[in-house]
Amino acid sequence: MATKQAFQEQLNPFEIAKQQFNIAADYLDLDPSMRHVLETPKRQLIVSIPVKMDGGDVQVFEGYRVQHNVARGPAKGGIRYHPNVSLDEVKALATWMTWKCATLGIPYGGGKGGVICDPKRMSKDELERLTRRYAFEIAPIIGPDRDIPAPDVYTDEQTMAWIMDTISMVRGHTELGVVTGKPISLGGSLGRNEATARGCLYALREACKVKGMSLQGSRVSVHGFGNAGANIARLVAEDGARVVAICDSKIGLYAEGGIDIQEALRHKAKTKCLAGMRGVKEIPSDDVLTVDCDILLPSALENAITLANVGKVKARIIAELANGPTTPGSDRVLADNGVFLVPDILANAGGVTVSYYEWVQDQYSFFWSESHINETLEQAMRVAFKSVHETAQRYDTDMRTGAYILAVDRVAEATRVRGIFP
Ligand code: GLU
Repeated sequence: MATKQAFQEQLNPFEIAKQQFNIAADYLDLDPSMRHVLETPKRQLIVSIPVKMDGGDVQVFEGYRVQHNVARGPAKGGIRYHPNVSLDEVKALATWMTWKCATLGIPYGGGKGGVICDPKRMSKDELERLTRRYAFEIAPIIGPDRDIPAPDVYTDEQTMAWIMDTISMVRGHTELGVVTGKPISLGGSLGRNEATARGCLYALREACKVKGMSLQGSRVSVHGFGNAGANIARLVAEDGARVVAICDSKIGLYAEGGIDIQEALRHKAKTKCLAGMRGVKEIPSDDVLTVDCDILLPSALENAITLANVGKVKARIIAELANGPTTPGSDRVLADNGVFLVPDILANAGGVTVSYYEWVQDQYSFFWSESHINETLEQAMRVAFKSVHETAQRYDTDMRTGAYILAVDRVAEATRVRGIFP
């Protein structure tokens, strides 16, 4: 079809991650050697995961763990279970973790894991066996000082508990700090569950100040209703915003007067989907990206905003809770249209920031109050937002490029002073 042809653009996440990196590398005038070092993932592990299914047959799943860069500290990043996981996606996600940790100034590099599977079609027992075997297969390269996994799409605190238990069994001692995002009863941190969304709320408040807007009364559209999307919808509603659109992977909901988020949460918990809620209009999921609103919060997967729909985006502020939801071509269109975009490596960094607090608490076996966590997170997000905004202004560029310049410069500096071994 002619229209499809007209919108042809690069959608491979790792190619996109490299493009984003190279824009910043140009501003920083990085030499080719440094570019090669920073662009290339340090370690990529591919594992086969045989799992006894409930029916008695054995299925073999493919899994990955990628460590992109460890110049500033151990690798850090989530584990994703999804049918569309690929090695290139995990490489991109690991790369984004490196820049995310550097943007926030937390002492980690970047890593990510993924397993190609459809968790919605697997029983809890099958998911447990899959998780334990995957943990066992990646055990040689993870650990509190090496690489620390956490939840990501379709993994949660139960997944982290199984990984922590499996690694502890294998090593013969309790290894609390091997994963973050654990249950509170197992060395988890208060506030971690909603930290991605809460960090975004703090960044969004700063973005509203820059744009001279008020979050209170703003019309907000949230794409995705997983951990990040559901929590941000609730938090902005509590801040007085009107959430006019939400969606999950199956259906979108729209209500000009605002959606009752508490009711949507109850409905989703009860029926496992958003369809069938009363008093709202049902629309296709992706229409949530282009509805009339002031603030758009992409909170699902990569490549949500592409050249095919960016022209119809109406929001004035976008904050990315998902990783990689906007293509580089769309970034240019949004910047030309005066849209203020808070990039993923800043907007969704609250999750890994509280993961860092969890890891620190585990090391000390001394646990903080939720208010202390939230206040420390707020401070960290405000400092990072200010640094990114100042960098963007200094280089006369957009917020994504500002964040990349800041992050890439920090990792390049660490690489330079450490030197290349041997
Ligand atoms: N998966 C989350 C992210 O993409 C959290 C990573 C972490 O806490 O290590 O940022």
